[in-house]
Amino acid sequence: MKAERVAGGWKLNGAKAWITNAAVAGLSIAYAQTDRSQGYRGIACFAIEAERPGFQRDTPFELHGGHAIGVGGFRLVDYIAPDEALLHPPGAAFKSALAGINGARTYVAAMCCGMLHAALETAVRYTGQRQTFGQKVIEHQGVRWKLVDAATDLEAARLLTYRAARLIDEGKDAVLPAAHAKKFATDMALQRIADCIQAMGANGLRAEYPLARHLAGAKIAAYTDGSIEMMNERIGAALPQVFG
Ligand SMILES: Cc1cc2nc3c(=O)[nH]c(=O)nc-3n(C[C@H](O)[C@H](O)[C@H](O)COP(=O)(O)OP(=O)(O)OC[C@H]3O[C@@H](n4cnc5c(N)ncnc54)[C@H](O)[C@@H]3O)c2cc1C
Repeated sequence: MKAERVAGGWKLNGAKAWITNAAVAGLSIAYAQTDRSQGYRGIACFAIEAERPGFQRDTPFELHGGHAIGVGGFRLVDYIAPDEALLHPPGAAFKSALAGINGARTYVAAMCCGMLHAALETAVRYTGQRQTFGQKVIEHQGVRWKLVDAATDLEAARLLTYRAARLIDEGKDAVLPAAHAKKFATDMALQRIADCIQAMGANGLRAEYPLARHLAGAKIAAYTDGSIEMMNERIGAALPQVFG
């Protein structure tokens, strides 16, 4: 997305895909480059109104799961943002974008903990009722241990999430704790929700149970607010500082 200074405001052109709530949002925030030679210092932040000329909403994406997210995109074609729509000028916008990201990563981690908790509740209840080979499914040690592993990972993910949330609450540096929490929670949720489905046999796939929906949700969480790879890059950049 690029922005060009014009009389009384800025002219914006460009497109952004994969925006949460883009299907319905009347007001969005866009970061646009005002001067490529300035790198991140050239980025400015604008309030974008869907009713202004030049705003074109894309058809929302259809996903497997995440149906309430309303994810989609929009393009701006010679869209004029008035001066008062400049939320952060060049030089300040990139920093402001990063300021909110630790909180976002932490709530995505919390979301994954919630999804796995729900999956475990469902799987434990189900396997405590269904019988195979003369005993409850949860009494088969192989199945029970898988659910135990899921419970252990859930405890670990929760502690990472609580730590990041506490640091944010205290106004302290949460960059690495939030990255660790988000990476671990999204990764483990994918694997452990799948384990819960496995413990329930084919019935775990049925739409009356929330597990397959949560599995899709965990995959979505692996991208939103920074992919697992981006978390690795963030943590990797700090390795010499932390362990060197
Ligand atoms: C439901 C949903 C809602 C979203 N909402 C928003 C939103 O509101 N606002 C917003 O800005 N974004 C949003 N996103 C976008 C999300 O932040 C991106 O999906 C994410 O940044 C990855 O970018 P990409 O999908 O374009 O993957 P690509 O950039 O095409 O990358 C493909 C793969 O390669 C990996 N990769 C890319 N570069 C590197 C590298 N240098 N090193 C190692 N691995 C790399 C990526 O992690 C990814 O796995 C949303 C995504 C989803 C799924």
